[in-house]
Amino acid sequence: MCLICVDLQKDKMTWKEARSNLNESYENLDKEHILELLTLIWDKQDEEQKSLDFSLSELDYKRAKEYEEVMELWKTYGGD
Ligand SMILES: [Zn+2]
Repeated sequence: MCLICVDLQKDKMTWKEARSNLNESYENLDKEHILELLTLIWDKQDEEQKSLDFSLSELDYKRAKEYEEVMELWKTYGGD
């Protein structure tokens, strides 16, 4: 649990802010925690996008793309 999670769960931070914070601090977080945090971000994103009537398959596609991007980032920064 880090500050980003805490603020996100308390709705002190939007998922967009959480994501930009994650971009700045993911080097200091361990891999499992980044996934936990991303899951939280996705949940918040889902809530918002469901209210905007996005289709679920579109969301799943975005998640898969985002997961790939995060994995690429890890490789770039020397993660395993
Ligand atoms: Zn956290």
